[in-house]
Amino acid sequence: MARGIRIVGGGLAGLSLGVALRSRGVPVELWEAGALPRHRVCGEFISGVRPATLEFLGIADLLADAHRHETVVWYRGDGHRCYRARLPRPALGISRHALDERIARRLEDLGGGVRREERWRGSLDEPGSVLGTGRKAERGSPWIGLKVHAEAPREHREGDLALFLGEGGYLGMSAVEGGWWNACGLFRKRPGVRASKEALLGRYAEASGIEALAGDRFPAVRAGSGVGVSALSFALPAPSRDGLLRLGDAWGLIPPFTGNGMSIAFESAEIAVLPLLRWAAGEEEWARVVTAIEEAHQRRFRRRFQVARILHGWLLSPRRQRWLLAGARTGLLPFRRLFAWTHD
Ligand SMILES: Cc1cc2nc3c(=O)[nH]c(=O)nc-3n(C[C@H](O)[C@H](O)[C@H](O)COP(=O)(O)OP(=O)(O)OC[C@H]3O[C@@H](n4cnc5c(N)ncnc54)[C@H](O)[C@@H]3O)c2cc1C
Repeated sequence: MARGIRIVGGGLAGLSLGVALRSRGVPVELWEAGALPRHRVCGEFISGVRPATLEFLGIADLLADAHRHETVVWYRGDGHRCYRARLPRPALGISRHALDERIARRLEDLGGGVRREERWRGSLDEPGSVLGTGRKAERGSPWIGLKVHAEAPREHREGDLALFLGEGGYLGMSAVEGGWWNACGLFRKRPGVRASKEALLGRYAEASGIEALAGDRFPAVRAGSGVGVSALSFALPAPSRDGLLRLGDAWGLIPPFTGNGMSIAFESAEIAVLPLLRWAAGEEEWARVVTAIEEAHQRRFRRRFQVARILHGWLLSPRRQRWLLAGARTGLLPFRRLFAWTHD
């Protein structure tokens, strides 16, 4: 009988790890503090994940009907189209509402325990405990992330991903299932901006100079889909010294414009599977497993985080945006190389 794994956190890292371990015979108990399914702040644009990773985790079929996004179009805040590029690898479009639930059901079907709406409050450093608890909250962080499902304005449906650049913020829009588009933005907090959950994204877009999606520019908004998150930290993940095993955003949150955070959550689970199988079989000490997984994370993701952090600064400053867009227009922007550096 294999030793069991306790997974704390039912986001993509925790759920996909659970499926991968359970399908290889390991007992799995997963705790998720929130409801499943639910709307989450996420661009719902999965960029960079390799089919082999999804196959290895045992969830590729769950994404078979996702949109295949092949192009990205950049807009200035006033709606002027500045750049259009083909993605080196197609991205996938599916809502977290649908995807998280599909993976949770797969885990349950395989005999794994999924404790919905139950926060784990026990110790996190017992051998066999994996933290897929999501981003570390940073007090005083200047950022707010907002998302809503909406009908896209007709004039901005020409690319698979529409990225609007504003002042101290940006907003991405791409299709998910059911005819809806996911609109999701990261903005510098503006305490004076208030509205209902569904209207807040439009208000923030307006206040951040993205007039093209200001206020009521969305023809329709999906009821109940408006969510927000703050206390976001984009610090470079430092090597963990506390002996805890962290995956996905709990290890590090990459700036969202890359669309690579969900891929990192899947890859993070992929990295952890074989070492955890060795521990479950009693072949490896826990401390060595944690070290091996941490080192593999640093090797696989460090450059992505470093390059993404630099580009993030450029996307958020109007002056540097102008340089970026000029580079894009004149063909000097090495889009494919930057894609590789932030995805591979
Ligand atoms: C504004 C914004 C836009 C983004 N856009 C994109 C995008 O377009 N593409 C992309 O790939 N990525 C995007 N991301 C990033 C992506 O959402 C994350 O990288 C991904 O969700 C990480 O998955 P995870 O499983 O690590 O964490 P999460 O999905 O955050 O899951 C963690 C879970 O742990 C639970 N939890 C925490 N503590 C406990 C506890 N003690 N007990 C039980 N449960 C607990 C939480 O309730 C949560 O459900 C975006 C992020 C932001 C902020």
